[in-house]
Amino acid sequence: MIGVKVQDLVKKFGDMVALKTISLTIEPGELFFLLGPSGCGKTTLLRSLAGFYLPESGKILFGDEDVSRLEPHKRNTGMMFQSYALWPHKTVAQNVAFGLEQQNVSKAEIERRTMEALDSVQMGQYAERKPNALSGGQQQRVALARALVIRPRCLLLDEPLSNLDAKLRLEMRTEIRRICKEYKLTTIYVTHDQKEALSIADRMAVLKDGNILQVGTPLDVYKRPMSRFVASFIGETNFIEGKVVRSDAGTALVKTERGEFSGVMVPGYEVKDGQTAYLSMRPECIKIEDIKPEDNYLEGKIEDVIYYGEVAHYVFKSGDFRLKISELNPKYLTHSKDKTVYAYIHPEDLVVLKD
Ligand code: ATP
Repeated sequence: MIGVKVQDLVKKFGDMVALKTISLTIEPGELFFLLGPSGCGKTTLLRSLAGFYLPESGKILFGDEDVSRLEPHKRNTGMMFQSYALWPHKTVAQNVAFGLEQQNVSKAEIERRTMEALDSVQMGQYAERKPNALSGGQQQRVALARALVIRPRCLLLDEPLSNLDAKLRLEMRTEIRRICKEYKLTTIYVTHDQKEALSIADRMAVLKDGNILQVGTPLDVYKRPMSRFVASFIGETNFIEGKVVRSDAGTALVKTERGEFSGVMVPGYEVKDGQTAYLSMRPECIKIEDIKPEDNYLEGKIEDVIYYGEVAHYVFKSGDFRLKISELNPKYLTHSKDKTVYAYIHPEDLVVLKD
Protein backbone atom coordinates (compact mmCIF):
# COMPACT_ATOMS: atom_id res chain seq x y z
CA MET A 1 0.00 0.00 0.00
CA ILE A 2 1.23 3.48 -0.87
CA GLY A 3 -0.04 6.93 -0.12
CA VAL A 4 -0.42 9.54 -2.84
CA LYS A 5 0.69 13.15 -2.41
CA VAL A 6 -0.10 16.02 -4.72
CA GLN A 7 1.97 19.14 -4.05
CA ASP A 8 1.14 22.55 -5.55
CA LEU A 9 0.02 21.01 -8.83
CA VAL A 10 -0.78 23.41 -11.67
CA LYS A 11 -2.19 22.21 -15.00
CA LYS A 12 -3.06 24.54 -17.89
CA PHE A 13 -4.62 23.97 -21.28
CA GLY A 14 -3.40 26.98 -23.25
CA ASP A 15 -4.53 30.02 -21.22
CA MET A 16 -7.10 27.98 -19.30
CA VAL A 17 -5.88 27.00 -15.82
CA ALA A 18 -7.62 23.68 -15.10
CA LEU A 19 -5.84 23.01 -11.76
CA LYS A 20 -4.84 26.02 -9.69
CA THR A 21 -2.05 24.96 -7.30
CA ILE A 22 -3.68 21.89 -5.83
CA SER A 23 -2.31 20.02 -2.81
CA LEU A 24 -3.72 16.81 -1.42
CA THR A 25 -2.61 13.84 0.70
CA ILE A 26 -4.28 10.48 0.22
CA GLU A 27 -3.50 7.86 2.82
CA PRO A 28 -2.39 4.31 1.96
CA GLY A 29 -5.41 2.08 1.39
CA GLU A 30 -7.83 4.97 1.37
CA LEU A 31 -10.90 5.14 -0.88
CA PHE A 32 -10.76 8.81 -1.77
CA PHE A 33 -13.33 10.70 -3.87
CA LEU A 34 -12.92 13.76 -6.08
CA LEU A 35 -16.24 15.47 -6.32
CA GLY A 36 -17.48 18.62 -7.99
CA PRO A 37 -19.56 20.05 -10.82
CA SER A 38 -18.77 19.59 -14.48
CA GLY A 39 -15.56 21.30 -15.54
CA CYS A 40 -14.10 21.72 -12.02
CA GLY A 41 -10.96 19.72 -12.85
CA LYS A 42 -11.67 16.23 -11.45
CA THR A 43 -10.71 14.34 -14.60
CA THR A 44 -7.71 16.58 -15.18
CA LEU A 45 -6.42 15.72 -11.70
CA LEU A 46 -7.03 11.99 -12.20
CA ARG A 47 -5.36 12.01 -15.61
CA SER A 48 -2.42 13.89 -14.14
CA LEU A 49 -2.08 11.12 -11.53
CA ALA A 50 -2.20 8.51 -14.31
CA GLY A 51 0.47 10.39 -16.25
CA PHE A 52 -1.64 11.32 -19.28
CA TYR A 53 -1.12 15.01 -18.53
CA LEU A 54 2.16 16.55 -17.44
CA PRO A 55 1.71 19.42 -14.99
CA GLU A 56 3.10 22.91 -15.56
CA SER A 57 4.47 22.83 -12.02
CA GLY A 58 4.12 20.93 -8.75
CA LYS A 59 4.74 17.31 -7.81
CA ILE A 60 2.99 13.96 -7.58
CA LEU A 61 4.42 11.39 -5.18
CA PHE A 62 3.47 7.70 -5.02
CA GLY A 63 4.82 6.75 -1.61
CA ASP A 64 8.27 8.40 -1.56
CA GLU A 65 8.72 8.24 -5.33
CA ASP A 66 8.31 11.41 -7.38
CA VAL A 67 6.31 10.23 -10.41
CA SER A 68 5.52 13.72 -11.77
CA ARG A 69 7.50 13.18 -14.98
CA LEU A 70 7.14 9.39 -15.26
CA GLU A 71 5.40 7.93 -18.32
CA PRO A 72 1.93 6.46 -17.71
CA HIS A 73 2.92 2.80 -18.19
CA LYS A 74 5.73 3.13 -15.64
CA ARG A 75 3.41 4.43 -12.91
CA ASN A 76 1.60 1.10 -12.54
CA THR A 77 -1.83 2.53 -11.93
CA GLY A 78 -4.99 0.54 -12.61
CA MET A 79 -7.57 2.59 -14.46
CA MET A 80 -11.21 2.33 -15.20
CA PHE A 81 -12.98 5.03 -17.14
CA GLN A 82 -16.54 5.88 -18.05
CA SER A 83 -16.17 4.18 -21.42
CA TYR A 84 -14.58 1.02 -20.13
CA ALA A 85 -14.41 -0.44 -23.70
CA LEU A 86 -13.70 -4.13 -23.54
CA TRP A 87 -12.38 -5.69 -26.76
CA PRO A 88 -15.42 -7.33 -28.36
CA HIS A 89 -13.44 -10.05 -30.21
CA LYS A 90 -11.63 -11.24 -27.06
CA THR A 91 -13.16 -13.38 -24.34
CA VAL A 92 -13.60 -12.06 -20.82
CA ALA A 93 -10.43 -13.91 -19.71
CA GLN A 94 -8.43 -12.58 -22.68
CA ASN A 95 -9.60 -9.05 -21.93
CA VAL A 96 -8.39 -9.33 -18.35
CA ALA A 97 -5.15 -11.16 -19.23
CA PHE A 98 -4.11 -8.49 -21.74
CA GLY A 99 -2.51 -6.18 -19.16
CA LEU A 100 -0.36 -9.03 -17.84
CA GLU A 101 0.72 -10.16 -21.31
CA GLN A 102 2.34 -6.75 -21.72
CA GLN A 103 4.44 -7.50 -18.66
CA ASN A 104 6.99 -10.28 -18.33
CA VAL A 105 4.71 -12.77 -16.60
CA SER A 106 4.67 -16.55 -17.27
CA LYS A 107 1.66 -18.15 -18.97
CA ALA A 108 0.71 -20.15 -15.88
CA GLU A 109 0.95 -17.04 -13.71
CA ILE A 110 -1.20 -15.06 -16.19
CA GLU A 111 -3.89 -17.75 -16.03
CA ARG A 112 -3.81 -17.92 -12.25
CA ARG A 113 -3.98 -14.17 -11.73
CA THR A 114 -6.65 -13.68 -14.40
CA MET A 115 -8.92 -16.20 -12.70
CA GLU A 116 -8.16 -14.71 -9.29
CA ALA A 117 -9.14 -11.23 -10.53
CA LEU A 118 -12.30 -12.56 -12.20
CA ASP A 119 -13.27 -14.48 -9.07
CA SER A 120 -12.81 -11.39 -6.93
CA VAL A 121 -15.45 -9.57 -9.00
CA GLN A 122 -17.60 -12.72 -9.13
CA MET A 123 -17.12 -13.21 -12.87
CA GLY A 124 -15.06 -16.44 -12.84
CA GLN A 125 -17.84 -18.45 -14.45
CA TYR A 126 -18.02 -16.06 -17.44
CA ALA A 127 -14.32 -16.33 -18.35
CA GLU A 128 -14.96 -17.77 -21.82
CA ARG A 129 -17.84 -15.46 -22.81
CA LYS A 130 -17.50 -12.54 -25.18
CA PRO A 131 -18.33 -9.09 -23.72
CA ASN A 132 -21.44 -8.61 -25.88
CA ALA A 133 -23.00 -11.62 -24.14
CA LEU A 134 -22.77 -9.84 -20.76
CA SER A 135 -25.00 -7.29 -19.05
CA GLY A 136 -23.74 -3.74 -18.46
CA GLY A 137 -22.98 -4.51 -14.82
CA GLN A 138 -21.09 -7.66 -15.72
CA GLN A 139 -19.01 -5.76 -18.28
CA GLN A 140 -18.24 -3.21 -15.60
CA ARG A 141 -16.99 -5.99 -13.31
CA VAL A 142 -14.72 -7.30 -16.06
CA ALA A 143 -13.32 -3.80 -16.58
CA LEU A 144 -12.61 -3.65 -12.86
CA ALA A 145 -10.90 -7.08 -12.95
CA ARG A 146 -8.77 -5.79 -15.84
CA ALA A 147 -7.66 -2.83 -13.72
CA LEU A 148 -6.97 -5.04 -10.68
CA VAL A 149 -5.08 -7.87 -12.37
CA ILE A 150 -1.87 -5.87 -12.80
CA ARG A 151 -1.75 -5.32 -9.00
CA PRO A 152 -1.68 -1.56 -9.40
CA ARG A 153 -0.01 0.77 -6.90
CA CYS A 154 -3.20 2.75 -6.97
CA LEU A 155 -6.55 2.44 -8.65
CA LEU A 156 -7.97 5.40 -10.58
CA LEU A 157 -11.69 5.36 -11.33
CA ASP A 158 -13.38 8.00 -13.49
CA GLU A 159 -17.19 7.89 -13.22
CA PRO A 160 -17.00 4.08 -13.38
CA LEU A 161 -20.73 3.58 -12.85
CA SER A 162 -22.17 6.26 -15.09
CA ASN A 163 -23.27 3.80 -17.80
CA LEU A 164 -25.30 1.67 -15.41
CA ASP A 165 -28.93 1.89 -14.40
CA ALA A 166 -29.83 3.09 -10.90
CA LYS A 167 -30.18 -0.36 -9.32
CA LEU A 168 -26.89 -1.67 -10.68
CA ARG A 169 -25.09 1.49 -9.61
CA LEU A 170 -26.17 0.85 -6.05
CA GLU A 171 -25.02 -2.75 -6.20
CA MET A 172 -21.68 -1.95 -7.86
CA ARG A 173 -20.74 0.86 -5.53
CA THR A 174 -20.69 -1.38 -2.47
CA GLU A 175 -18.93 -3.99 -4.56
CA ILE A 176 -16.21 -1.51 -5.53
CA ARG A 177 -15.67 -0.61 -1.91
CA ARG A 178 -15.46 -4.27 -0.90
CA ILE A 179 -12.86 -4.99 -3.60
CA CYS A 180 -10.74 -1.90 -2.83
CA LYS A 181 -10.63 -2.87 0.84
CA GLU A 182 -9.98 -6.56 0.10
CA TYR A 183 -7.05 -5.67 -2.19
CA LYS A 184 -5.94 -2.92 0.24
CA LEU A 185 -5.83 -0.53 -2.70
CA THR A 186 -5.31 3.18 -2.53
CA THR A 187 -8.17 4.31 -4.76
CA ILE A 188 -9.02 7.69 -6.23
CA TYR A 189 -12.55 7.85 -7.54
CA VAL A 190 -14.02 10.69 -9.62
CA THR A 191 -17.74 11.32 -9.65
CA HIS A 192 -20.25 14.13 -9.72
CA ASP A 193 -22.73 11.91 -7.87
CA GLN A 194 -22.66 13.00 -4.24
CA LYS A 195 -24.62 9.97 -3.04
CA GLU A 196 -21.99 7.67 -4.50
CA ALA A 197 -19.30 9.56 -2.61
CA LEU A 198 -21.19 9.90 0.66
CA SER A 199 -22.05 6.20 0.77
CA ILE A 200 -18.63 4.61 0.21
CA ALA A 201 -15.85 7.19 0.55
CA ASP A 202 -13.35 7.16 3.39
CA ARG A 203 -12.71 10.82 2.60
CA MET A 204 -13.48 13.18 -0.22
CA ALA A 205 -12.38 16.47 -1.76
CA VAL A 206 -14.86 18.95 -3.19
CA LEU A 207 -13.48 20.89 -6.16
CA LYS A 208 -14.66 24.04 -7.90
CA ASP A 209 -13.01 25.96 -10.74
CA GLY A 210 -9.71 24.11 -10.41
CA ASN A 211 -9.43 24.58 -6.63
CA ILE A 212 -10.00 22.20 -3.74
CA LEU A 213 -12.55 23.78 -1.43
CA GLN A 214 -12.84 21.18 1.32
CA VAL A 215 -11.43 17.77 2.25
CA GLY A 216 -12.98 15.50 4.86
CA THR A 217 -14.95 12.38 5.70
CA PRO A 218 -18.49 12.21 4.26
CA LEU A 219 -19.82 13.06 7.73
CA ASP A 220 -17.52 16.10 8.12
CA VAL A 221 -18.36 17.53 4.73
CA TYR A 222 -22.10 16.89 5.03
CA LYS A 223 -22.46 18.10 8.61
CA ARG A 224 -19.88 20.89 8.52
CA PRO A 225 -19.67 22.31 4.98
CA MET A 226 -17.31 25.30 4.72
CA SER A 227 -19.43 27.34 2.29
CA ARG A 228 -22.87 27.64 0.70
CA PHE A 229 -21.47 26.06 -2.44
CA VAL A 230 -20.33 22.90 -0.59
CA ALA A 231 -23.50 22.77 1.52
CA SER A 232 -25.75 22.78 -1.53
CA PHE A 233 -23.52 20.60 -3.71
CA ILE A 234 -23.35 17.84 -1.09
CA GLY A 235 -27.01 17.28 -0.30
CA GLU A 236 -29.94 19.66 -0.05
CA THR A 237 -30.17 22.59 2.28
CA ASN A 238 -32.03 25.83 3.12
CA PHE A 239 -30.29 29.16 3.56
CA ILE A 240 -31.37 32.20 5.56
CA GLU A 241 -29.25 35.35 5.52
CA GLY A 242 -28.63 37.38 8.65
CA LYS A 243 -26.15 39.44 10.69
CA VAL A 244 -23.91 37.97 13.37
CA VAL A 245 -24.87 39.25 16.83
CA ARG A 246 -22.26 37.29 18.75
CA SER A 247 -19.73 34.62 17.85
CA ASP A 248 -17.66 32.74 20.33
CA ALA A 249 -16.08 29.31 20.96
CA GLY A 250 -17.39 27.65 17.81
CA THR A 251 -20.97 28.93 18.04
CA ALA A 252 -22.69 32.04 16.71
CA LEU A 253 -25.94 33.89 17.28
CA VAL A 254 -27.39 35.37 14.07
CA LYS A 255 -30.24 37.84 13.69
CA THR A 256 -32.48 37.31 10.67
CA GLU A 257 -35.76 38.81 9.46
CA ARG A 258 -37.50 35.81 11.03
CA GLY A 259 -35.85 35.91 14.45
CA GLU A 260 -32.53 35.00 16.07
CA PHE A 261 -30.83 31.63 15.62
CA SER A 262 -27.88 29.92 17.28
CA GLY A 263 -25.72 27.59 15.28
CA VAL A 264 -22.25 26.11 14.97
CA MET A 265 -19.34 27.47 12.97
CA VAL A 266 -16.93 25.39 10.91
CA PRO A 267 -13.36 25.51 12.28
CA GLY A 268 -11.23 27.70 10.02
CA TYR A 269 -14.26 29.48 8.55
CA GLU A 270 -15.63 31.33 11.57
CA VAL A 271 -17.79 34.44 11.19
CA LYS A 272 -17.16 37.63 13.18
CA ASP A 273 -19.56 39.88 15.09
CA GLY A 274 -21.47 42.23 12.77
CA GLN A 275 -20.69 40.21 9.60
CA THR A 276 -23.27 38.95 7.13
CA ALA A 277 -23.80 35.21 7.63
CA TYR A 278 -25.82 32.46 6.01
CA LEU A 279 -27.63 29.84 8.05
CA SER A 280 -27.59 26.39 6.45
CA MET A 281 -30.38 24.06 7.58
CA ARG A 282 -30.70 20.57 6.12
CA PRO A 283 -34.36 19.63 5.40
CA GLU A 284 -34.16 16.48 7.55
CA CYS A 285 -32.79 18.44 10.53
CA ILE A 286 -35.85 20.69 10.80
CA LYS A 287 -38.71 19.45 12.96
CA ILE A 288 -42.25 20.71 12.62
CA GLU A 289 -43.83 21.31 16.03
CA ASP A 290 -47.37 22.22 17.04
CA ILE A 291 -46.21 23.86 20.29
CA LYS A 292 -43.96 26.90 20.14
CA PRO A 293 -40.34 25.91 20.96
CA GLU A 294 -38.23 28.10 23.26
CA ASP A 295 -35.81 29.22 20.56
CA ASN A 296 -34.32 28.50 17.11
CA TYR A 297 -37.62 28.31 15.32
CA LEU A 298 -39.61 29.97 12.57
CA GLU A 299 -43.33 30.43 12.84
CA GLY A 300 -45.36 29.62 9.72
CA LYS A 301 -47.59 27.24 7.85
CA ILE A 302 -47.23 24.07 5.87
CA GLU A 303 -47.93 25.18 2.31
CA ASP A 304 -47.49 21.89 0.50
CA VAL A 305 -46.77 18.22 1.17
CA ILE A 306 -45.28 15.72 -1.26
CA TYR A 307 -45.62 12.14 -0.03
CA TYR A 308 -43.09 9.48 -1.08
CA GLY A 309 -44.10 6.61 1.19
CA GLU A 310 -41.21 6.41 3.65
CA VAL A 311 -40.66 10.16 3.63
CA ALA A 312 -42.64 13.34 3.06
CA HIS A 313 -41.29 16.64 1.79
CA TYR A 314 -43.02 19.68 3.20
CA VAL A 315 -42.89 23.22 1.94
CA PHE A 316 -42.99 25.43 5.02
CA LYS A 317 -43.76 29.12 4.55
CA SER A 318 -42.76 31.76 7.06
CA GLY A 319 -43.27 35.33 5.79
CA ASP A 320 -41.38 35.51 2.50
CA PHE A 321 -39.23 32.47 3.36
CA ARG A 322 -39.89 28.99 2.14
CA LEU A 323 -38.10 26.05 3.75
CA LYS A 324 -37.83 22.50 2.47
CA ILE A 325 -38.40 20.08 5.33
CA SER A 326 -38.34 16.30 5.11
CA GLU A 327 -39.67 13.82 7.60
CA LEU A 328 -39.46 10.05 7.83
CA ASN A 329 -42.71 8.43 8.91
CA PRO A 330 -44.56 11.69 8.19
CA LYS A 331 -47.15 12.97 10.59
CA TYR A 332 -48.45 16.16 8.93
CA LEU A 333 -49.93 14.64 5.77
CA THR A 334 -53.46 15.68 6.54
CA HIS A 335 -52.47 18.90 8.18
CA SER A 336 -54.65 21.98 7.63
CA LYS A 337 -52.83 24.60 5.57
CA ASP A 338 -54.22 27.35 7.78
CA LYS A 339 -52.83 26.09 11.07
CA THR A 340 -49.79 27.84 12.54
CA VAL A 341 -46.87 25.49 13.23
CA TYR A 342 -43.21 25.93 14.16
CA ALA A 343 -40.10 24.81 12.28
CA TYR A 344 -37.45 24.07 14.90
CA ILE A 345 -33.79 23.34 14.34
CA HIS A 346 -31.32 22.29 17.03
CA PRO A 347 -28.27 24.62 17.17
CA GLU A 348 -25.93 21.64 16.53
CA ASP A 349 -27.67 21.07 13.17
CA LEU A 350 -27.60 24.69 12.06
CA VAL A 351 -24.35 25.71 10.37
CA VAL A 352 -23.39 29.39 10.24
CA LEU A 353 -21.47 30.13 7.03
CA LYS A 354 -19.64 33.28 6.04
CA ASP A 355 -19.61 32.66 2.29
P1 ATP B 1 -16.83 16.56 -15.95
O1 ATP B 1 -17.56 16.22 -14.67
O2 ATP B 1 -17.72 17.29 -16.91
O3 ATP B 1 -16.10 15.41 -16.56
P2 ATP B 1 -14.35 17.57 -14.80
O4 ATP B 1 -14.47 18.14 -13.44
O5 ATP B 1 -13.77 16.21 -14.92
O6 ATP B 1 -15.74 17.69 -15.55
P3 ATP B 1 -12.15 18.39 -16.47
O7 ATP B 1 -12.39 17.42 -17.58
O8 ATP B 1 -11.01 18.08 -15.57
O9 ATP B 1 -13.47 18.61 -15.62
O10 ATP B 1 -11.94 19.82 -17.11
C1 ATP B 1 -11.51 20.95 -16.38
C2 ATP B 1 -11.43 22.15 -17.32
O11 ATP B 1 -10.36 21.96 -18.25
C3 ATP B 1 -12.68 22.36 -18.16
O12 ATP B 1 -12.94 23.72 -18.28
C4 ATP B 1 -12.34 21.74 -19.49
O13 ATP B 1 -13.05 22.37 -20.54
C5 ATP B 1 -10.84 21.99 -19.59
N1 ATP B 1 -10.16 20.90 -20.33
C6 ATP B 1 -10.11 19.61 -20.00
N2 ATP B 1 -9.38 18.89 -20.87
C7 ATP B 1 -8.95 19.77 -21.81
C8 ATP B 1 -8.15 19.67 -23.01
N3 ATP B 1 -7.63 18.51 -23.37
N4 ATP B 1 -7.93 20.79 -23.70
C9 ATP B 1 -8.44 21.98 -23.30
N5 ATP B 1 -9.20 22.16 -22.20
C10 ATP B 1 -9.45 21.08 -21.47
